[in-house]
Amino acid sequence: MSIRENLYSFDAFLDERRRIDYYASDDFLQAVVRRFAGDAFPAVDAAVRELSARASTRWRDLADAAATPDRRPYLVQWDAHHHRVDRVCRPAETEAMEREVFGEGLFSSRTDLVTRLAKLFVIYQNGEACIACPLVCTEGMVAVLERFADRPETVAILEHVKEGRDGRSAVGAQFLTEIQGGSDVPANVVEAVGDGGAWRLHGTKFFCSVAHADYAMVTARPRGSSDVALFVMPMWEPGREGDRRNGLTIDRLKWKMGTSELPTAEITLDGAIAWPVGPLDRGLANVVGIVLTLSRLTVGLASAAFMTRAVRETVAYARFRDVFGRRIDEFPMAQAQLEDTTRAARRTTAAAFKVYRLFRESGGLSGAPDTGFEARRRRLEARELVMLQKVVSSEDSTSVVREAIAIFGGQGAVEDFSCLPRLFRDSMVNELWEGPRNVLLTQVHRDLRKAADWCPPRSFVEGILAGADPATVARLSIEFAELLSLPSLATRDAATVAACRRWDAACRDLVHAYQDAALREMG
Ligand SMILES: Cc1cc2nc3c(=O)[nH]c(=O)nc-3n(C[C@H](O)[C@H](O)[C@H](O)COP(=O)(O)OP(=O)(O)OC[C@H]3O[C@@H](n4cnc5c(N)ncnc54)[C@H](O)[C@@H]3O)c2cc1C
Repeated sequence: MSIRENLYSFDAFLDERRRIDYYASDDFLQAVVRRFAGDAFPAVDAAVRELSARASTRWRDLADAAATPDRRPYLVQWDAHHHRVDRVCRPAETEAMEREVFGEGLFSSRTDLVTRLAKLFVIYQNGEACIACPLVCTEGMVAVLERFADRPETVAILEHVKEGRDGRSAVGAQFLTEIQGGSDVPANVVEAVGDGGAWRLHGTKFFCSVAHADYAMVTARPRGSSDVALFVMPMWEPGREGDRRNGLTIDRLKWKMGTSELPTAEITLDGAIAWPVGPLDRGLANVVGIVLTLSRLTVGLASAAFMTRAVRETVAYARFRDVFGRRIDEFPMAQAQLEDTTRAARRTTAAAFKVYRLFRESGGLSGAPDTGFEARRRRLEARELVMLQKVVSSEDSTSVVREAIAIFGGQGAVEDFSCLPRLFRDSMVNELWEGPRNVLLTQVHRDLRKAADWCPPRSFVEGILAGADPATVARLSIEFAELLSLPSLATRDAATVAACRRWDAACRDLVHAYQDAALREMG
């Protein structure tokens, strides 16, 4: 043996990591699924095990393989015969994974809610990977079309995304954001012009993820109207799929810090044909109440999944690696960090399932009018928790993955040593899309002030935190009551700045107390 040869090996760690099955190796996740599946658990358990065996091996490897810089999606705008084609090219690994995952029929009537959530949780452990965003956009499209598809074209699209056609399920996208603003959807200027029973869309959408999709939900303003309506738009000219675009150009794919495997485009609509979904004057309400709500719930679930994977691999590494003659996890400082991040991952997971159940039980997407105080209160709780969880869990995910990277030391920064750098960047994007932090915190303040005459802040906090630590409930009840006495968080004075600081902290504490209670319920 040469004196220069270093026999140090990571193989024991790699072997352990390779053997992990995201579901079968995770007793806590199984307990969560058992709790939420109830009597259906044996069937749900079997279905999730079957999927997890692929998600934890083949799809994990496909996601890793597609994540290198040379495999980024790219755009081919012209073919060799001077046709504008605007094809979004993705690596074979991404296409294979998408085909297989969408082949699962996750949004089909065959798949019950808990099976779907548990399967999604397992899939999301592979990061965004150009699969999480396509899944949630498709979920939102199915939900909104299930409610409103009322003409042959929209019924056919629903069937295509939900049940598939010719052995392939269609993929959905959602295009709301314009150059002048993403949060401010009411300020949309993309215009819709009636054309017989259909509509033609004109203008620029500035953040269009899943640019390779088959269909997109698009917000646009009917000409002469002050309302923003919701449309469903094929990405290809009907009958010319894969060959000619539907009255639109894909101008550029964005170069992003995270979700890099996902093509996010800038798109100009120039007469794209589309069909209205729901009443024209309810587009904004439907896009927020259905499409964005489901996306925000998914951010909660995906954040929990990212944390779960990051913590699991970090615990394994800390058990494997010696530093100064001791395993990393034998240092009290690291032990505390591992315990805290494990707890964060678990409470976020337990709460993500619980919020989803509350959302469904409170009427969720049904649009049914509230009957009675209790129903109204539960619906308010669900609405606010969806927003608050989105804000806090995505931020916690970034913090937990950052902590995990630190435990790995220098290896934590190495892109192909672990998935942590990718999860970190994807987490950061989860903080930004589907409603950034300040927008949602401000909205919650507005909502709770509006509800205060029938649901005072104290009732709201006590309702959300049923089963939580009584001292925390008392403290947050007082804090919410004080901060909600302020008429607005938009007043430009020093008192409001101070109140915003407190509101931010109080909302974070509320979510953490809710998550702690959800974790305690797990025993
Ligand atoms: C990777 C990626 C992919 C995306 N994909 C899509 C997509 O597929 N479809 C789509 O429609 N959009 C998409 N988006 C856009 C995303 O939803 C928007 O970026 C987001 O809604 C914020 O809009 P904005 O970027 O215009 O920021 P702005 O609205 O300009 O906000 C800037 C800042 O102002 C704050 N702010 C805004 N309004 C208020 C308010 N009323 N009160 C207090 N603070 C406020 C925000 O919190 C933020 O800090 C994507 C974004 C990213 C990063």
